[in-house]
Amino acid sequence: MIITGQYVITRPGEVVPDGAICIDGEHIAAVGKRDDIIRQFPSKSVLERHGCLVTPALVNAHCHLELEFCENKVQYRGNFVEWLQEVRNLKHDMMVLPGYFPERSVKAVLSSGTTTLCDHYTMQMDFEAIRQAGLRYYGFRELFEFNNHHPNMKRLRDATICSYAVHSSYTTSAEVAQAALAIAREKGVPISMHLSEMQQEIEFIRSSNSDIEQLLRRAGAWDDDWHGTGMTPVQYFDSLELLAPDVFCVHLNYITTEDIEILAARGVTHVYCPRSHAFFMHPDHPLAKMRDAGIHSCLGTDSYGSNVDLNILEEAKLAWVEFPQFPAEEILAMMTENSLRPLKLEGELGKLEKGYRADVAVWEGCEGESFEDLMRWLVRQKTANLVMCNGRIVHEG
Ligand SMILES: [Zn+2]
Repeated sequence: MIITGQYVITRPGEVVPDGAICIDGEHIAAVGKRDDIIRQFPSKSVLERHGCLVTPALVNAHCHLELEFCENKVQYRGNFVEWLQEVRNLKHDMMVLPGYFPERSVKAVLSSGTTTLCDHYTMQMDFEAIRQAGLRYYGFRELFEFNNHHPNMKRLRDATICSYAVHSSYTTSAEVAQAALAIAREKGVPISMHLSEMQQEIEFIRSSNSDIEQLLRRAGAWDDDWHGTGMTPVQYFDSLELLAPDVFCVHLNYITTEDIEILAARGVTHVYCPRSHAFFMHPDHPLAKMRDAGIHSCLGTDSYGSNVDLNILEEAKLAWVEFPQFPAEEILAMMTENSLRPLKLEGELGKLEKGYRADVAVWEGCEGESFEDLMRWLVRQKTANLVMCNGRIVHEG
């Protein structure tokens, strides 16, 4: 199949006017000018998309699909730990059961041009249905085991469909976190972790925090031997050798200059969730300082517990308002290639190029000609006209 477009963005900074891509099975066979591609592949059917922008499909690097039930139900009253407890209570009250298929969320992700999703989960969902819907799904099983100092490796190995999420520095013990990373490495997959998300966490890891202690006590996970470390969460996790290029560090809202040096030296990938960040009213994010230090950041939506939808373009739009100095290339990279190294998908996704996977999004009614103008238009879109994952149409608007 050939898809044509008024403009084809093939990678950050590169636009082909009157372009087309030719798809052969799950991969891209060629990208170029429309007339050349049609001439080169005369037997292929042509999907003409006049007036459309064709781009690589996007990546959402942090989500919690299972929190679909939180939509319009959870408020933030200024205390993060209370919010977390409310989400946990609500999950219990709503009786969300294993086998659950968050269909509306999956459709929302796909319709926003996203085909690859990094998702924290706590219970067995209908993972087969999620994949059947056409999402390249990376499930990170959340570990909330602060007082477990002797993880059962067999149980841990069997506990996930893909990898692990160290829920946080204040809810996962050092031993469980290290075991999860070791198993993930055997499997060749990254791990994901919320880190340095909020002020209570900083206090708790340094010395103590009564809100977090209560949360852990209620969850039956309090550790009587915990006395704090005198360190920041980043220093603490670094001392446990948990920070590495195969790790997604989500949030990093409260970090010091020294933390930034550590994160850069370890080569972690950072995930920024701008609308979730705004929901919790955190102070300005140190994203620009991190970028200056050479840290790769990508974007995530987080969940319906702290966001109104799962459209990654809305995250890009807000990030660009907050960091207007970022070039358009960086904004696209944060939704595509910046998250691919830990997933080992570099050279396969994030660009429209011969040999890459046919993950494509088509957007109707584009405005502008330059890469920057097209990106300024793209971040204002809600729904793609057509989305393909591995050469299969997974959304058509
Ligand atoms: Zn999260």
